[in-house]
Parts: sequence; structure tokens; C-alpha cells
Amino acid sequence: MKKIGRTLGVVAAAASLAALGSAPAHAAGDVYQGTGWRISTHHGIQSLSPDPYVIRLVKPTADDKLTPAQNKAAEAQLRTLLKKSAAQLTSITGTKFTVSDAYHSPETACSSAERHVIVVGLRYRPFDGKPGMSRAWPCSASGNRSAWGGWIWMDSEYWMPDRKLEPWILANAVTHEVGHSIGLNHPNVDGPDADKTADPYECVTNSSKDTPVMCSPNGGYGRGKGGSVTRAKQHGGQYTPWDIEGLKALKANFTR
Ligand SMILES: [Zn+2]
Repeated sequence: MKKIGRTLGVVAAAASLAALGSAPAHAAGDVYQGTGWRISTHHGIQSLSPDPYVIRLVKPTADDKLTPAQNKAAEAQLRTLLKKSAAQLTSITGTKFTVSDAYHSPETACSSAERHVIVVGLRYRPFDGKPGMSRAWPCSASGNRSAWGGWIWMDSEYWMPDRKLEPWILANAVTHEVGHSIGLNHPNVDGPDADKTADPYECVTNSSKDTPVMCSPNGGYGRGKGGSVTRAKQHGGQYTPWDIEGLKALKANFTR
């Protein structure tokens, strides 16, 4: 309940600023959601800190059901994709994100999670045993409600030879989970079917059939219905303009 109280408090503050006519561009509406983006206020996150964040990998083990060779390949690919996500986040938000070469032990609770560290590992079906699903556990700073860090388990199945994901879909999946870890939520909304439910894949789209990479269960450039594989390949792992708006709002929220 505390969380809700704080959230309402900040919304009210933003609204009164708007009334005074001194609001920044984002505050014209809700600072926690806009077209194609939404902030994870249900996880207690309202903003992104200007202090740097570090991404660290958990050393893979046989528990993830991959062979040592598969684990090695998965780790190398994951590291490359995480670096791409980190570089985008740095350039979009101005907060520095890096991927460390050092391993980290698995995080298990926000109460003991290290500040501004995002721990990423491989696990077999980490999302309640559901096939093909990865999951992020975002934490928030109890004082100012900025993204604290947290952890991500990527489903090791993606690296099993008979279940391999297309590389651009894998890249989008990594970008998506990293987005969750710092406070982006799914921006799904009721779409063309107008059944009053935000269904899977039901997100804003454009004439190029792009959809936010944060769309649940996944999205990205050319990943909307009828999108082109060529376009999806070209932009695999990239935050779309909708996600970028959300990331910028997260950062702007830190000072408003
Ligand atoms: Zn998601």
C-alpha cells in the first residue's frame, strides 16, 4: 500500500507543476506511461538514477541443462548482446551502463541485492517452468524509488540446438529483460480486437510493423504482425522509439 501512496504523491506533484505552466515536455501527461511505454511502478520503480549501473554474469553451470561447450557459446553471445544493450542505455539515458568481465554470485532477494548491479544468468525455464520464457526481477531503492538493480535469468533453452532462437529474436529478448531490470514494464494495450484485454503481442505499431521491444511476450523492429524478417534482422536487439521515450521518462523522473 505504501508504494501506491508514493506513486500517487508524485503524480499529484507533476500535475500541479503542469498547472503552473512550468512542466517539462513529458509531464504533459502521466510520467509513468505513454504511447508504447510504461514504467514498472508495480515493482516500486519510478526513475533511473544518474549513478552508473554494472551488468555482471553468473558463471554458467550444468544445472542449466547445457553442455559445457553450449554454456561457453551461450555466455559469449549473452555478453555481446548485453554490451549492446548497455551501450544503447548509456546513450539514451546518459546514465553509464557497463558489462563487467567479473562473475557475480546469483542474487535471490532485493533486500540483499547489490546497489546498481544487474546480475544475469542462464537457467532452464526460469519463469515458473514455462518453456521459452526468461524473467527479470527488478528492485527499487526504498528511499527515492529509483531502479536499484536486480537480476535476470535467461532461459537456457534458447541455446539448445533443437530449440534455438533466431539471433535477432534472442537479441530482442535480452534487450527486453534488461529493460525490465531497470524499470520498463510491458506497454501492451487492447488493440484491434477491442476485447478490453491487452493480449500478448497487442501493442502500438507503425507502418513498418515495428512494435515496442518491451511488448509482451516480445516485440521489436519488424516484429509486429506482418513485419519483415529483413527489418527485424537489421534492428535485432534495438530499443524502438517507444521504448526510448520510456527510458528517457525514467531518467527525467529522477529530478521531477
Ligand atoms: Zn517481459
